[in-house]
Amino acid sequence: MIHITLPDGSVRSYEANVTPMDVAKSISEGFARNVISASFNGTTIETVTPLTTDGSLVLYTWNDKAGKTAFWHSSAHVLAQAIEELYPGSKLTIGPAIDNGFYYDVDFGEHTVSEKDFKAIETKMLEIARGKHDFNMRSATKAEALDLYKDNPFKTELIENLEDGTITFCDHSTFTDLCRGGHIPNTGIIKAVKILSVAGAYWRGDENKPQLTRVYGISFPKQKELKEYLELLEEAKKRDHRKLGKELELFTFSPRVGQGLPLWLPKGAALRERLENFLKSAQKKAGYEMVVTPHIGQKELYETSGHYAKYGADSFQPINTPKEGEEFLLKPMNCPHHCEIYNNSQWSYKDLPKRYAEFGTVYRYEQSGELHGLTRVRGFTQDDAHLFCTPDQLDEEFKNVIDLVLYVFGSLGFENFTAQVSVRDPENPDKYIGNVENWEKAEQAIINAAKDKGLNYVIETGEAAFYGPKLDFMVKDALGRQWQLGTIQVDYNLPERFNLTYKGSDNELHRPVMIHRAPFGSMERFIAILLEHTAGNFPLWLMPTQAIILSISEKYEKYAEKVLNLLENNEIRALVDHRNETIGKKIREAEMQKHPYMIIIGEQEANENKITVRQHGGADLGMISVEDFSKIINEEISKTLKPF
Ligand SMILES: [Zn+2]
Ligand SMILES: [Zn+2]
Repeated sequence: MIHITLPDGSVRSYEANVTPMDVAKSISEGFARNVISASFNGTTIETVTPLTTDGSLVLYTWNDKAGKTAFWHSSAHVLAQAIEELYPGSKLTIGPAIDNGFYYDVDFGEHTVSEKDFKAIETKMLEIARGKHDFNMRSATKAEALDLYKDNPFKTELIENLEDGTITFCDHSTFTDLCRGGHIPNTGIIKAVKILSVAGAYWRGDENKPQLTRVYGISFPKQKELKEYLELLEEAKKRDHRKLGKELELFTFSPRVGQGLPLWLPKGAALRERLENFLKSAQKKAGYEMVVTPHIGQKELYETSGHYAKYGADSFQPINTPKEGEEFLLKPMNCPHHCEIYNNSQWSYKDLPKRYAEFGTVYRYEQSGELHGLTRVRGFTQDDAHLFCTPDQLDEEFKNVIDLVLYVFGSLGFENFTAQVSVRDPENPDKYIGNVENWEKAEQAIINAAKDKGLNYVIETGEAAFYGPKLDFMVKDALGRQWQLGTIQVDYNLPERFNLTYKGSDNELHRPVMIHRAPFGSMERFIAILLEHTAGNFPLWLMPTQAIILSISEKYEKYAEKVLNLLENNEIRALVDHRNETIGKKIREAEMQKHPYMIIIGEQEANENKITVRQHGGADLGMISVEDFSKIINEEISKTLKPF
């Protein structure tokens, strides 16, 4: 008998050579029908692999990430078979599962494959899938493997790098592929397939090596799921922040200024300013003080902080002065500067905590191929702050920072989020700086704070930074995608490196604890996520223009100006569209610009001293007074933007 431990901690006994699928069936037939993959003692195995020792078994369904990986990995084999049948002479290379689907890199030889061929590939894949072929793993000697691929230099290269005795193949139907395993039981589970795109890719990512064609695909156990996924892709395309940023005239890039360096247009700059003012006002109430530091710092500063040793080689290289021979770095982070601000005075425990905040612009080198809109840039502004406190104050400070982060999320419409507490790996104490007692205190402070604030959190062991534990917030956007926003980190390292001290009640010098935090992360990335989350329909308090005034003809221009003045007196951001265009055209463009309210002015409105109001998206509020309209706007704002 062997003993199998399941994820819920229960232990079951079976005859040796029981398979994961047998175990699933012994739990319930219904559950077993959904099981598509398994892992044993942390290693992915087949659902038909005989188990011969005691160990921990995890059974996965489509709803698990590991289940999807097995599903897409298996689908890549089916894609490869379809390609081999449709394009004889093609040479297969590698074909992994990815976050959303799978790809296969292929040397198509004389064939070219483009979008018009996708349908044929999909049809062939589904035809193979319907055959319900089992995936079977088997071992092969190096000689056998080399013989099978004697006409394929790519697989030959892969096999030559493998040890004889470790080589395995996967067979299904009439097809064989070099593979390490991890499949769904059979091809029949694959019910829906879509080839998404093709792209050029170099063998092994090396531009000096042959160019291959990468075929991207995705597959699902249900047709309905494919349909939903494709709708999501369509919606994501519409919401792409690069597209919306252009349409809403928020930001641009100029090749002359340089790639990865966003230029904020007036409307975008106004948006940033409103976000900054919003956070500044909450921070002020939370006892933060604003500081300002330069965009460069001496190389030595980052040697002291340890950043240079860790990131120096992969960063923008030092800037030299022409005469003095000094070396400066573009600021990659604000922390060392803030440590020096702390060091400007000798603090007593009674002065702490000190909370320094700065919208600090930092520069980090990213390879040009990695740059992406506002989410991967080379220069960005962090909504940064560093808190310096005594170890006893850590608990409360941490809770206060969580309050601030939750306030930010709430005011911006991010309601769906989880938190991750990253703690030490207790097995590896050498990996971390600082004493065990402080670490325990800090980890407990974070967990207590998360509990106290009712956060939905998970604890990840071994995920802490070497200098301290942290709390990360993961938000889910309107399309169900996860983004990491808002980090709070405890740091024992920099106070040590910068010799930060405070005088305790015992009159001795002590080390303060430092907290790094940024609720937005960076203004650039945050605005990108907010754009995609809201499709540009920001909360009303944040909209660049809250109402646009459209007059039916020039005759009512004067009344339009009067309405504008009244709205401005009520602190509503409004504009008049003065152009001599038809009202129909003005309305269409205002919809495109996502102005939340349109105010239409004609003869009746001017005579009765009223306005006709239309909401973005079509709802009609009818003819009302400016006062009533102002009330509606202010009520809507107060629903999302509450005082901190
Ligand atoms: Zn495989
Ligand atoms: Zn920092």
